[in-house]
Amino acid sequence: MTYQIKAVARCRTPYKQKFGIPRQPGLVAARGFVELEAEFNHMDAVRGLEQYSHLWLLFCFHENLAQGWKTTVRPPRLGGNEKLGVFATRSTFRPNGIGQSVVKLHGVVQRNGKVCLEISGMDLLDNTPVIDIKPYIPFSDAIHDAVGGIAHEAPALMTVNYTELASAQIAAYAAQPQYLDLAELIDGVLAQDPRPAYKKAKEDPKLYQVALYDLDIFWCIENAGIKVLELRPAKL
Ligand code: SAM
Repeated sequence: MTYQIKAVARCRTPYKQKFGIPRQPGLVAARGFVELEAEFNHMDAVRGLEQYSHLWLLFCFHENLAQGWKTTVRPPRLGGNEKLGVFATRSTFRPNGIGQSVVKLHGVVQRNGKVCLEISGMDLLDNTPVIDIKPYIPFSDAIHDAVGGIAHEAPALMTVNYTELASAQIAAYAAQPQYLDLAELIDGVLAQDPRPAYKKAKEDPKLYQVALYDLDIFWCIENAGIKVLELRPAKL
């Protein structure tokens, strides 16, 4: 059976590339918004949503759909060596390519005639198609004694240090309204250590870059921690 579904909204986030996006929501307090698509753009459709503190976003891993799926995957959390069934993981390569994330709701507003849900804590690539929005219902969604399998705790955090240049650049950007949360965002994203698991075991001299907003953040590994070197305007 094949069913057709439509994107009801788009999620706008600071994450302009997949590398660097946290593996699950709630790990980094990145701020963004969900903008309803024209056909669903009615304030009536979100009436009462502001009563909830969190939302479920169901979305498409749209950048991975073309690669299809396999019955087993190598979860990064297991170092990329062990295989698990795709349904035993939150892999982004799935039969229907559907993701689900719980995000914090900060407000329901209209901006330039479009209904926007202001959110934070998402793990979505910028412009991800959202196929459904649901209120988070703690009494049934929060199962306090649930067992989390391979994902029984949040990933360990790395220390993040900054060169003088990077610190000065971040301070200068963060003074501008569109980068207000930049320092917290860089710290949160890099503390997750975005590198693939197999890179973490040994010396790693590589220069890395993550794209946040319209900036490229350059960093490397130094003394078993993250060292932020400098920021540059992203190449468009
Ligand atoms: N919380 C969701 C879930 O459990 O279904 C997503 C978990 S998945 C491991 C999170 C990763 O999905 C992010 O780190 C990012 O690399 C990837 N991702 C986010 N948005 C995407 C998109 N639109 N297309 C492809 N991959 C995406």
